[in-house]
Amino acid sequence: MSERWGSGQMDGLTYWWGKARLLTYSLKVFVYVVDDVLIDAASWKLRRPFLRYFSGRLPERLLLTHVHEDHCANAAMLASRGVTVFAPEAAQNEIGVEPKLPLYRRLIWGRRPPFPAMPLPETVETNRHSLRVIGAPGHTQDHVVFFEEKEGWLFTGDFFLTARPRLVLKDEDLSKTILSLESLAELPFRLILGAHEGPLQGGPALFKQKLSYLLELREKVEALREQGLSDEEIDRRLFPSKPLISRVSGGEWASLHMIKTL
Ligand SMILES: [Zn+2]
Repeated sequence: MSERWGSGQMDGLTYWWGKARLLTYSLKVFVYVVDDVLIDAASWKLRRPFLRYFSGRLPERLLLTHVHEDHCANAAMLASRGVTVFAPEAAQNEIGVEPKLPLYRRLIWGRRPPFPAMPLPETVETNRHSLRVIGAPGHTQDHVVFFEEKEGWLFTGDFFLTARPRLVLKDEDLSKTILSLESLAELPFRLILGAHEGPLQGGPALFKQKLSYLLELREKVEALREQGLSDEEIDRRLFPSKPLISRVSGGEWASLHMIKTL
């Protein structure tokens, strides 16, 4: 059986990851430690190894990139142990209520209890680092990334994931992802520190790859729309095979959402 969780160090940073599983599907989720700050807080199903790892080294503050259940389900428990939680300002109404999640998300990640949080400030200072909070709409409209300029770290949550997505969550707006990629690709970062992909070398070049891929895809979609094809027909033509998660999620993760929002 492969590892369920692990931790590591890279570039002076500590990270912890846990792996969620459902049948043959599995996905890691990463959290990062910068001095007394923890970035994202993993899922409910990973709460035992997560809390065991952090019990002797609780952070003082938790910063959330967005409030999906795989990133903030342990925020309530951390808050009850004295950790100050910060979440994107636009998510303040959502966090006080436990969302009704689709069955597959409850099976993979578990629940997302409500939690108290303060709105994220523009910059978060730690002993050795300064994290700039930057809006990065796309995956969700209130998604933020954290930029440490001196080190060239960009903590991306679910903003990046992959340079060549074949499907997105139904709330994602790829037109906004494109605009965010255009502006974030101008930042001088070296490491992408994502919540599912883990630390990635490559910096803005990877963002530019994703941008070119999405712009090319948009051109193809526009050309097919001009020929009179519907979004569903374009989806079948450009993405004929569907990944397992597309079926498991009942279409919540789908290539059609990419076509519709390009
Ligand atoms: Zn997410």
